[in-house]
Amino acid sequence: MFILFGSKQTKKELALGRELLCPRCNNVRRWPVMQYTTWFSVFFIPVIPIKNQYFEMCPICKAGKKLTRQQAQRWHA
Ligand SMILES: [Zn+2]
Repeated sequence: MFILFGSKQTKKELALGRELLCPRCNNVRRWPVMQYTTWFSVFFIPVIPIKNQYFEMCPICKAGKKLTRQQAQRWHA
């Protein structure tokens, strides 16, 4: 039997986040808190989450700042 394994990454916005001055593009905006999940997939269907990463991301230039899970969960109410 032929089984196709792989991995797949999904992202979702957890919260609107806080207002920050971006060091890259110098705009003050609310940076959304993003969750990136890497999944183990079978036949392109995500089955098991392997790891989660959290970022605050500048909505203008997409500069990102990594967060710990605890930091991200403060926004996830
Ligand atoms: Zn920026």
